[in-house]
Amino acid sequence: MSFDTILRNGRIAGREHEPVDIALCDGRIAAITPRSSQITQDAARDIALDGKLVIPGFVETHIHLDKSCISDRCSCRTGTLPEAIESVAAAKLAFTEQDIYARGRRTLEKAIVQGTTVMRAHVEVDPRIGLKGFRAVSQLKRDFAWALDIEICVFPQEGLLNDPGCDELLIEACDGGADLIGGCPYTDNDPHGQIARIFELAKRYDLDIDFHLDFDLDPSWMHLDEVCRHTAKSGWGGRVAIGHVTKLSALDHAALEKIGVKLANAGVAVTVLPATDLFLMGRGAEHSVPRGVAPAHRLLAQGVTCSLATNNVLNPFTPFGDCSLLRMANLYANIVQLGRSDELQACLDMVTLLPAKLMNLGDYGIAVGNPADIVVLDCADRVSAVAELGPTATLHWPGATPSLVKDDFRADLAEARSLARSLP
Ligand SMILES: [Zn+2]
Repeated sequence: MSFDTILRNGRIAGREHEPVDIALCDGRIAAITPRSSQITQDAARDIALDGKLVIPGFVETHIHLDKSCISDRCSCRTGTLPEAIESVAAAKLAFTEQDIYARGRRTLEKAIVQGTTVMRAHVEVDPRIGLKGFRAVSQLKRDFAWALDIEICVFPQEGLLNDPGCDELLIEACDGGADLIGGCPYTDNDPHGQIARIFELAKRYDLDIDFHLDFDLDPSWMHLDEVCRHTAKSGWGGRVAIGHVTKLSALDHAALEKIGVKLANAGVAVTVLPATDLFLMGRGAEHSVPRGVAPAHRLLAQGVTCSLATNNVLNPFTPFGDCSLLRMANLYANIVQLGRSDELQACLDMVTLLPAKLMNLGDYGIAVGNPADIVVLDCADRVSAVAELGPTATLHWPGATPSLVKDDFRADLAEARSLARSLP
C-alpha cells in the first residue's frame, strides 16, 4: 500500500500512552501503527510530530457567521440580552449578501486556523433579512468545503408566530437545502406554538432540530419540558439539541438531576455557550454576579450528549472571539471549577467527540478509513491541551491534495485555496 503522507510519532487523544505513526492516502486515514512497529515506507510528505497530541478536528455546534464582526456597528449600553437582540435586529436591516459573506469569511478563517473542521452555523431567517444570510452562508459552505464541513441551521431569531411571512421564508430555506431547522421560543409571543411548528417542519423535511432555549436565570418555568415532550412524541430522540439553557445554572443538584434524567431519556442534547452566557447573564447583580453557565459536565455524567460552542463573535451578544474551541473548553473548565484530569479530558471531549455525536457525524475520529481531518496540538495529552492551550496545527485535506495549515496561516490558506481551485 502506498501513502501520500505519514505523520510520525504522534499521540492519539484517549490513547496517549502509546505513540503511533499515522499514514494518510487520498484524504483518508489509511493506517495507524504503533511506534514499536513503525511504518517503514516513504511518502511524499513525512511529518515528525515528536510525540505531540493528535485529535480529530474541533466540532463547532453553534456559531452565528451571519451576525459576526459587527461590534463596530452597534453601540450597546446595558449589555443585556434584550439590548443585544434589539441592536442586532437594527444592524441587520443594512446587511447585504456580500457583507454577510465577507464577515462570515473573516470568522471562518479564524475557526479554520484554530482547528475547527466541522461547524453548525445558525442562520437567521425572517422578513427583514429574507434569505440573504442563508444564501451568503450557503456560498461560504461551498467555498470553504476544502477546509471544513458546514451545516446550516435556519431559525427565526425574532419570533415565528408573531412575525407574518417568517414561516414561508423558513419553508423556502428548507426547500433550498437548509440542513436543519432551529427555533428561539423565548422571543415568540407563543413559545409552545413555535416549538410545535418547528417540530412540524422538521418532520415534513426530515431535519434535525437545534433550539435556542431557556436563556435567563429563572428556573421556575422552562421550555425544555415542552421540547422533551415533542421529541418523545415525534420519535426525534438523538436529533434534537438545545443551546444556552442558562436556567439550569440556577438549579440545585437534586433539581438538575431530574432534568438530566429527562434530557437523557428524551435524547435531547445540550450545547453550552460559555462566552455569551457569561457576558449576558446576571446583569442585574451589582456584586456576586452569577455565572449563568449551565453545568454541562453534570448532565454529561447522566448520559446527556453535551457540547461547548462559540455562539457569537464580535457582536453585542459576545464582543469577543478568536473562534478557538480549545479556549472555550478551558474557559468552561475554569468557570465551572473543573481541574481533575478526568474533568479536563471531558472538556476536550465536549469540543470534539461529543459535538460529533450531537451532529450525528458518521465518520468522525482518528480511525482507519475516516477522513484525514486531523489537528495536532503542541502537548502530550488531553489534560495539558485544555490546561495550557498550546499552539494548534491543523492538517486539512482538500480532496486528494494535502495542505498544511499551521503557524503561517495566511500563506498556507492562500496555498490551500489555490489547491482547492485546481481540484477537478
Ligand atoms: Zn446562538
